[in-house]
Amino acid sequence: MSSAAEARAHRPRGHVRHYAGLLTPGAGAAVPALLERNRAQRLERLLRTAAGGAARRTAGRRRMRALVAAPGARMRWRSVPAPAPPGPEQAIVHPLAASTCDVDCPLALGAMNLALPAHLGHECVAEVLAVGERVRTVKPGERVVVPFQISCGCCSRCRAGCPGSCLSVPPLSAFGMGVGGGHFGGAFSDELAVPYADAMLVPLPRGVAPAAAASVSDNVADAYRHVAPHLPALLDADADARVLIVAGLSRRPLLSASVALYAGQIALALGARNVCLVDSRAQVRAHAERLGLTALKPRELRGQAPAQLVVHSSADPLRPALAHTAADGVCTSNGGLHRSTDIPLIQMYIRRCTLHVGIPHARTNMPGALELIARGKLRPERVTTSTAPFDEAPRALREHCLAGATKTVLVR
Ligand SMILES: [Zn+2]
Ligand SMILES: [Zn+2]
Repeated sequence: MSSAAEARAHRPRGHVRHYAGLLTPGAGAAVPALLERNRAQRLERLLRTAAGGAARRTAGRRRMRALVAAPGARMRWRSVPAPAPPGPEQAIVHPLAASTCDVDCPLALGAMNLALPAHLGHECVAEVLAVGERVRTVKPGERVVVPFQISCGCCSRCRAGCPGSCLSVPPLSAFGMGVGGGHFGGAFSDELAVPYADAMLVPLPRGVAPAAAASVSDNVADAYRHVAPHLPALLDADADARVLIVAGLSRRPLLSASVALYAGQIALALGARNVCLVDSRAQVRAHAERLGLTALKPRELRGQAPAQLVVHSSADPLRPALAHTAADGVCTSNGGLHRSTDIPLIQMYIRRCTLHVGIPHARTNMPGALELIARGKLRPERVTTSTAPFDEAPRALREHCLAGATKTVLVR
């Protein structure tokens, strides 16, 4: 596909279409879930951020750069107050390598149900600058992977290994999502305040480059949870078990394809011999083939045998993924981008298929993914399509969005 055709496939939305999109039923359906607990805390953070914005020019605090995205992929550095010295459980970190998430492109184009402008970026490897007095597991100068979700590590959900459901913060509390994520700042910045350092930060294994591991914060961990909990048992039952990864089915897939490509790499690393990726984008199929996957166009899905593990990392309809899930197989989907979807329940009932849907618990899946990287079995850098200096973030990220690129990594 030519770059001109790619640009047409990713049209930026201006302010009017972006804000109109926030009033659609899909966006409206998310609001009650966002407000189902810790409402007062969410409101307080919103008001504190607004007050901080108003006092921006008069405050005497140190300042730093933070990348702000407005509808239409308008990116710019903004001078904002640097984080205050860390509280007892907190850390201040300095992102060394930060990468785009698969939602950053539609988010910055104004096509997601998340309000802009927003401080962008939620995947990074960072250097610890300062820690609070109760922090035990990391020290200044160490390199860490920062999970995108905010979690306390000590509530009942965190202790159960479900930090994405942490009860100490409002639902969907995350870096780089602006008002929707609760105003925790973005990783495309000079400094980031990590609220619960011991619970969240994971030391970068020795010998792993920051740029290779930046996406472990979210997309690599996401791919890992799609594959690692399910594949070993399926391969035990059938060493030739098929893995099908559904990335883009429509002419204009909304999401970038890095989770899909990482999932393919992880499936191969864990011993799958038969891994197929479906995408309508020629460059994604070519990339998949370079990684050793079999690549299919959407129309070639018809007639394919069902797969024991189906990964649906896509904003396109779920039904084709479920229809291609084998008997006693598993379909796992990010799934959160549909208000409702068409599910072939009778087919699933007869085949006893299991469907998993949800945002990943990133922190829980990061150590397993990092171990594969440290052992050289997973190489996320092979999914990276562009690397740019941190200082050039506005240009590099705008180009990433307009080109519909897969993964851009900013490095210092
Ligand atoms: Zn993400
Ligand atoms: Zn918690």
